[in-house]
Amino acid sequence: MKKKKIPLRKCTGCGEMKEKRELIRVVKAPDVKSDDGSVISDGGISLDLTGKKPGRGAYVCKNPECFEKARKARRFERSLSCKIPEEVYEQMQNELKAFGNTDENGKGVSDE
Ligand SMILES: [Zn+2]
Repeated sequence: MKKKKIPLRKCTGCGEMKEKRELIRVVKAPDVKSDDGSVISDGGISLDLTGKKPGRGAYVCKNPECFEKARKARRFERSLSCKIPEEVYEQMQNELKAFGNTDENGKGVSDE
């Protein structure tokens, strides 16, 4: 029997190391570039509730307080090295709350 190694990730809010499944990933989608290398779209920041979105990610606990802490300290911006507009934070916080409420049965959050 092989021992399974559980990968730990650090919460951007409280700084604790936790299992990935206890955390939510905030992901910066890869930039969309044209042939001459200029950026058409800078990807954008969103919550990755499925854990499958491509791009650079930062982890935070499912606890909205950790999200708030990371938001106030601008830690997401630092670890993803980009600016995050207030309305994007609002949207992510709402999604996080909705996700927490429906965590047990795993539904109720749409992708839109
Ligand atoms: Zn945390």
